[in-house]
Amino acid sequence: MTDSATIRGVAILGATGSIGASTLDVIARHPSRYRAVGLSASRDVDGMEGLCRRFRPDLAAMADPDAASVLRARLADLDGIHVLSGEAGLLEVARASAADTVVAGIVGAAGLAPCLVAAEEGKRVLVANKEALVVAGDLIMSAARQSGALLLPIDSEHNAIFQCLPPQAATLDDAGVERLVLTASGGPFRERDPGTLASVTVEEACAHPNWSMGRKISVDSATMMNKGLELIEACRFFGASAGQVDVLVHPQSLVHALVQYRDGSTLAQMGNPDMRTPIANALAWPERIAAGVAPLDLLAMGRLDFSAPDGGRFPCLGLARDALAAGHGATAALNGANEIAVTAFLDGALRFDRIAGVIEETLSAMDGEPENRLDALVDYERRARREATASLKRWSH
Ligand code: NAD
Ligand code: MG
Repeated sequence: MTDSATIRGVAILGATGSIGASTLDVIARHPSRYRAVGLSASRDVDGMEGLCRRFRPDLAAMADPDAASVLRARLADLDGIHVLSGEAGLLEVARASAADTVVAGIVGAAGLAPCLVAAEEGKRVLVANKEALVVAGDLIMSAARQSGALLLPIDSEHNAIFQCLPPQAATLDDAGVERLVLTASGGPFRERDPGTLASVTVEEACAHPNWSMGRKISVDSATMMNKGLELIEACRFFGASAGQVDVLVHPQSLVHALVQYRDGSTLAQMGNPDMRTPIANALAWPERIAAGVAPLDLLAMGRLDFSAPDGGRFPCLGLARDALAAGHGATAALNGANEIAVTAFLDGALRFDRIAGVIEETLSAMDGEPENRLDALVDYERRARREATASLKRWSH
């Protein structure tokens, strides 16, 4: 029996996004277990106002100060919702005392500081924000070790790995794990004639065959940089070496990842491609709660296909592997350059097939290795953003 004393407060960073919507959908199915006590967004006042009216959080933060002022005025008729603004506001939501769980669902390195704060505060942190792990994963993991925070991955592949690992193992080696295998759908251009990639439109790139997601991650899926970021995420999260993580293209997106053990066993986690499954898994872990996701019907599906990724068609995957081998500076720079290139593509300022070129040029322009400290990594990532912006001018049409 659950009563109000055991209702868990959840703070959702990136509440107006796709991860935010999936999380709030799961929470709304379990009002006796969870309450959304804090919400944050960038500047979508209409979306945030609707969420505040429906979920009545204690705290609502807008990263954009003007948007915060508008929200505050719009919510004047409601009692008890404190509207916060700017990065300080996001951090306040991440450390809210009423929240025992924080969902890191902001897109991009903008979510790094709040994710780190939630880890430092000893929260249960549901990590969707892979860019935070790519830029400063070791720092987030070690903050969690020090504070006792429970970090749970909700990126579907990483949540699948988490589910296939024994709960107590300190290291992969202790657990007898030899390899981690991430599956990838291959995105919308898995079979498209590579000669036509120059003319890809934003709508085509964002039309993922299996998952409905925000625009940035949809473009990352179309270039397969998403899988590159996830390779890095897997190494940082699970302490795997680069050579221990493989990628398999699996167009049906039903097997989300596999863990291979030294005794010859391979465990896989399967399910329909719906983010509510990993979110519900991490919210309730080690219990299991309903997520509103239809059970997997393998008979209806009929077959599961697997193939090796095509490195020629998807150069971003190789760039991510190279960055992972080069070190923390290179992975931070990879992320910064990718964010700049994807934004330019979404704004119509860069051709789809030139995204990889901007990233490659940025990485070769970077020198020196930053210390593995937050300020140094963030500075290095910002420098990469400036290099990428300069490179863009050369590649833009
Ligand atoms: P989205 O674009 O749908 O939502 C992003 C959210 O972040 C929004 O609420 C937005 O207001 C907020 N935001 C954006 N920029 C911000 C800033 N500068 N400061 C503060 N808030 C900001 O994105 P999404 O698809 O929900 O993805 C969120 C994260 O989760 C990404 O890192 C993505 O890679 C990861 N992820 C998403 C999915 C998915 O199915 N959508 C799956 C796995 C991982
Ligand atoms: Mg994923």
